[in-house]
Amino acid sequence: MSLEQELLERSDATCELCGNTENLSLYEFQDFPGEASEASFIICSVCKEQLEEPEKVIPNHWRCLNDSMWSTVPAVQLTAYQMLTRLKSEGWPQDLLDMMYMEDELRAFAKSQMISEENRSVEVQHKDCNGAIIESGDTVVLTKDLNVKGSSLTAKRGTPVRRISLVHDNPEQIEGKVDGQQIVILTKFVKKV
Ligand SMILES: [Zn+2]
Repeated sequence: MSLEQELLERSDATCELCGNTENLSLYEFQDFPGEASEASFIICSVCKEQLEEPEKVIPNHWRCLNDSMWSTVPAVQLTAYQMLTRLKSEGWPQDLLDMMYMEDELRAFAKSQMISEENRSVEVQHKDCNGAIIESGDTVVLTKDLNVKGSSLTAKRGTPVRRISLVHDNPEQIEGKVDGQQIVILTKFVKKV
């Protein structure tokens, strides 16, 4: 029996989130700790679309989670948790979240998933003077003499700065060591090598 058939049997051929019986498919979480049948569930096209395209979400549709958040299927709990968290400004989802039960392990996984989602959406790219993307650990050279704030040090043009790190919330700044001193450098004054 295929996974999909197995899950259709489990769900009685209904969407495991909202109970819809039409346009069903299999929804699978990647990297999920556990069995394939725990990591997947049957979903209808309405739920799926709203899950994958946040701008199409109709909050009231998700009142179905009132029931389905009590599912014993981890992937359904996870989805309920994520959806309720996304919608919590509506008020009622927060109430459901407060009541919801999840194993610690699953809750930790849910949180890690949400964090990576957030990181993706606010990802900032650091670029050098030529527009090349700079990553943590790269080596750059200075394209101009820089006076280091708070010291008499001048970092000369052409000085290599090895193993730089990125200033996380500011795409215009990186950090690196010049003459043994950790300094903040503007990305527009460096060139990746
Ligand atoms: Zn559904």
